[in-house]
Amino acid sequence: MNKLTKAIFPNLKYSKEDILNKYKRRDENTVVTRLAPSPTGFLHIGGVYTAMINEHIAHQNGGVFMLRIEDTDKKREQDGAVDIICEVFKRLGLNPDEGVITPGEEKGEYGPYTQSERVDIYHAFAADLVERGLAYPCFATEEELNEIRDKQTLNKETPGYYGKYALYRDYPVDEAIKRIEAKEEFVLRFRVPEDEPQRVSITDLIKGEIEMDNNFNDFVLLKNDMVPTYHFAHAIDDYLMGTTVVIRGDEWISSLPIHIELFKYLGFKRPDYAHVAPVMKMDGESRRKLSKRKDPEANAMFYIEKGYPVKAIYAYLYTLINSNFEEWYLQNPTLDLSEFKFTYENMGIDGPLFDLQKLDNISREIIYNTDVDTNVKNMLDWAYEFDNSLYNRLTQNLELLTNIFKTQGPDSAEHRKDLANYSSFISEFGFLYNDIFEQNPPSRELLLENVSEANVELLRTEYLKYFEELKNGSEKTMKDLAKELGYTDKKKYTKNPEAYRGMFPEFYHFLRILATGKTQGISMDDVIKVIGLDEVIRRVKEF
Ligand code: GLU
Repeated sequence: MNKLTKAIFPNLKYSKEDILNKYKRRDENTVVTRLAPSPTGFLHIGGVYTAMINEHIAHQNGGVFMLRIEDTDKKREQDGAVDIICEVFKRLGLNPDEGVITPGEEKGEYGPYTQSERVDIYHAFAADLVERGLAYPCFATEEELNEIRDKQTLNKETPGYYGKYALYRDYPVDEAIKRIEAKEEFVLRFRVPEDEPQRVSITDLIKGEIEMDNNFNDFVLLKNDMVPTYHFAHAIDDYLMGTTVVIRGDEWISSLPIHIELFKYLGFKRPDYAHVAPVMKMDGESRRKLSKRKDPEANAMFYIEKGYPVKAIYAYLYTLINSNFEEWYLQNPTLDLSEFKFTYENMGIDGPLFDLQKLDNISREIIYNTDVDTNVKNMLDWAYEFDNSLYNRLTQNLELLTNIFKTQGPDSAEHRKDLANYSSFISEFGFLYNDIFEQNPPSRELLLENVSEANVELLRTEYLKYFEELKNGSEKTMKDLAKELGYTDKKKYTKNPEAYRGMFPEFYHFLRILATGKTQGISMDDVIKVIGLDEVIRRVKEF
């Protein structure tokens, strides 16, 4: 070890060889992917989206999916952030084969899978770069770096630490050693070799051929606390852990030249790359990225708190991931989603538009096709966790809850698909609970928008009479009553309005509004079944 390396790393724990011997190479044919989030206290739905791609691509090839925590930037880190990542993973059934499972618990032979626990590993490779003249200590102060930047701005030059601006690139080694021994602060920088080409190109599995200016910045490998930067750490990890394809957000494309240099000079075979476009949203006329600050739906926990079934979240995100998924899903509604094969060709180069309405539609279908008992269980599980008073309400009358779910699904009278997520239960079905109905009685305005004032009292009297007859065993239908009262269909009415009282909708809306407060919803037969005829009578009387 030369003097400089020794001065920088007086207590080096491992040599590069130690590390290379310790981590066995995996079988070349195993597809290995990873999600490598930084624990910032927030898991963006785009992160979940990327995790799903990583997991699916690994598993459809019989490979390995890892969760690695990239926590070398302590400034960005938040307490409990790893818990959030692990919790979202668990709730969504994202199942890493290796990596962090819960904070402090890991699985797999290539760990630790948390970067802050791998500092000695990074130092082994950093020391090797110093030995080979590919890294050097830099003592530039914040002020010096600012001065450089100001000069570059003034001269309209590219900002950075390079060429004549790389103050310590050719600094005398003895001087450097003295300053290190005097405990002066420094960072370790990569020394970009002079013969690096001007341009680099790479074939991305999603974006295709990418050509860009090479990196000529002597970027930082280890910060002044000797903790690596993300760039340096991730290259070592991806090599040692055997990542075969890096699937990540396309905001990292601009860092590719740095990453390519790192793999090259560390002597590592480079993984393949698949850069995923971010999930977008329409904001007025323009498209923009889903924003952590502005959009509650950017947070992965949003979907869990809203009570979307996990399958709906998957099916929806899969429609965004692969353009041919939706067609496959329509043709194979009962197959497990894992049967679908992702292809890179069907991943968009531009970010897909996020559309909560579409998620709702997919989710409605899934809740619709879920059997009553499972829906009841999911509903109770959700309420138990997120809405205590709702949970108490539901458990006080499980029969009512079951009957409500019986109004939904393929066996229901009108094939209702009212529920898009479990948190909408009260807004959809609250009127079936008497106290809630009392608190939000039907509005007279709504009634008069649908029923002419002249007919209100007549309809009330006739309906009440009809219900009494029903109770006494009459077999008369509502339609019979409607006709008796002079209601008819649109066609007949338009032809001869004088001959009729009105059209059927007026007749039916009257009862629906008085009994439910709404103009749409589950069939009136179902309303009667769920709350009972006496309650319907009471509501009609009391309005
Ligand atoms: N830690 C990086 C992030 O926070 C991961 C980038 C990568 O996947 O290489 O997004």
